[in-house]
Amino acid sequence: MPNLFGITRDDLEKYFLSIGEKKYKALQVYEWLYEQRVFNIDEFSNIKKEVRDKLKNDFTTDFIQIEKKQVADLTEKYLFRLHDNEFIEAVVMHHDYGVSICVSSQVGCNMGCRFCESGRLKKVRNLDTYEMVEQILAIEKDLGLKINSVVIMGIGEPLDNYDNIVNFIKIINDAKGLKIGARHITVSTCGLVPKIYDLSHIGIPINLAISFHAPTDELRSKLMPVNKVYSIDALIKAIRDFLQVTSRRVTIEYVMLNNVNDSIDDAKELAHLFKGMNIYVNLIPYNETNHLEFKRSSKNRIKAFYDTLKKEGINVTIRKEFGRNIDAACGQLRGRRSE
Ligand code: SAH
Repeated sequence: MPNLFGITRDDLEKYFLSIGEKKYKALQVYEWLYEQRVFNIDEFSNIKKEVRDKLKNDFTTDFIQIEKKQVADLTEKYLFRLHDNEFIEAVVMHHDYGVSICVSSQVGCNMGCRFCESGRLKKVRNLDTYEMVEQILAIEKDLGLKINSVVIMGIGEPLDNYDNIVNFIKIINDAKGLKIGARHITVSTCGLVPKIYDLSHIGIPINLAISFHAPTDELRSKLMPVNKVYSIDALIKAIRDFLQVTSRRVTIEYVMLNNVNDSIDDAKELAHLFKGMNIYVNLIPYNETNHLEFKRSSKNRIKAFYDTLKKEGINVTIRKEFGRNIDAACGQLRGRRSE
């Protein structure tokens, strides 16, 4: 049975029409769920009992469970238990400008990036739309606050779960849903090229972040098996299309791996690839994991890489770090219950 938190307002309108009811009932349901935060269908008092019973028959409102919560400076990490006893994680970060959440999109991940902890558990399944919406609802309730921005950058490859991701974006972006502006929603992908083209055309101008991490096909294919399927050239064409269709800026994520991808020549080649494009490079200091062959680049190497990109005319920032001491940082999420 579908879960009510995974249904877009459009689809809920279609549902009401299909049972011979007026479509504005969808709006009423959305107001209960997302404005009043009333999750019990019996309490939808402006909807008559007969319709409520029908709703209860056709939808669940089951919730994912908070299994564990860890707190560090400006960061909380949540471990959630799903209905089938799988686990995923989400991370909340408190910035000067608001609260952001990093949500997971799959149980495990099949992309096999060599340096990432999350991919150690192969993909078990995609998350349903409601399981992504509920990461936000559960955390807002637990912390008693409103989340302002969402990055789909936790466990999983979002574009490998495309339909559910698009529905998730629609629900959280809906002015009667979670009201998170398109500019406050970011999808991060390792580069599933055909789905990047699709994402350009959903009509919601979200931010796109690309996990790039290497300036040549040779190195990128070693670090990220996905590059053997979609080369740098194909990826950059897709990025150009996204830029053209959405007029948004794209983030190029680049994890700094000591002596692997962090030389001055690497920086120059990277700059060359993106010359004149409306992108900015976000350098991510590597968070060391059980992949012992990779170490974090030294501060000096990161600075030199940064300076080179700047000199080459590329906008560049160094990612602020959150949650390292609770293993909540990029690439450290695993979604297991115990060590
Ligand atoms: N699958 C998506 C989203 C999850 S990964 C993607 O590939 O974009 C989120 C970001 O963290 C990616 O840029 C990823 O490459 C990076 N990352 C993975 N492991 C990391 C680590 N150990 N330290 C720092 N960043 C890491």
